Amino acid sequence: MNLIEEIKRLKKERNAIILAHYYQNPEVQEIADYVGDSYFLSEIGKKSEAQVIVYCGVQFMAESAKILSPEKIVLFPAYTCAPCCMENQANEKLILEKIKEYPNAKVVTYINSSSGVKAASHAVCTSSSALQVVNNIDADEILFVPDKNLASWVQEQTTKKIIPYEGCCNIHDRVKPSDLEEALEKNGPMKILAHPECRPSVRAMADYVGSTAGILKAIEDIDADKYLIVTEKGIAHEIGKRYPDKKFVYLNMFCSPMKKIFPETIYEALNELKYELTLPEDIINRAKMSLENMHYYANKK
Ligand code: SF4
Repeated sequence: MNLIEEIKRLKKERNAIILAHYYQNPEVQEIADYVGDSYFLSEIGKKSEAQVIVYCGVQFMAESAKILSPEKIVLFPAYTCAPCCMENQANEKLILEKIKEYPNAKVVTYINSSSGVKAASHAVCTSSSALQVVNNIDADEILFVPDKNLASWVQEQTTKKIIPYEGCCNIHDRVKPSDLEEALEKNGPMKILAHPECRPSVRAMADYVGSTAGILKAIEDIDADKYLIVTEKGIAHEIGKRYPDKKFVYLNMFCSPMKKIFPETIYEALNELKYELTLPEDIINRAKMSLENMHYYANKK
């Protein structure tokens, strides 16, 4: 059996699309209909007329697709539990307590959080939409949950008051300025492109800070011989395809929950409608509003 051909056949038969994040295994990215960052993929999932969405990312991404399209079958073909480390750093109870502490603030939650936290929030954001969502939401004080690094990056660019939560991505927050210095020493001068989940001292060394989609675009805009990419190294696959003639250096940033999906599990998912993701109806109803608000505020002029 030719696995890839079988996946293509099943996709047609099931009226399915495969979405994959840039951090996924290369062979998964190659099978996907769309590869992108979480904002792009959430827009595609929402607009698509497919009946089945095979979501290749981490748990919160597949849950977000289900919340935005509850009538569709969402398959999350991870062979084992695959949550982003930030998904359990906040919880609904803590958010409700914070809201009491800051009654004039609106809660903007990074999409890398559980569905329960999204349900307790006013709006969700991704790294590529965070600034627009914060600037366009009708409040001057924002409780920003859970990533403190993304919160501080937004604070650097807005006049609104950001009240950060204490969470972070373990993979991005672990990187220190000395890691960048070491890479520069070893590889010579490079333009540094970093994700906003990195700590402020690392971002301060970067020539560009932005989401994965932003980093991919920045390579086109910033002319250089060599680039140091400071985000999860799964992005190397897309970078290599888009910029085969440029040189890149990656740090040892590896997100294991992102590597739990393989062509074999995608095949199983489509063949048996296995790995279906379900959520309680009340969570879907409450979290949907905050996800739809993200799209509204991100596109508001
Ligand atoms: S790289 Fe960090 S933020 Fe992204 S999915 Fe992995 S743990 Fe979560």
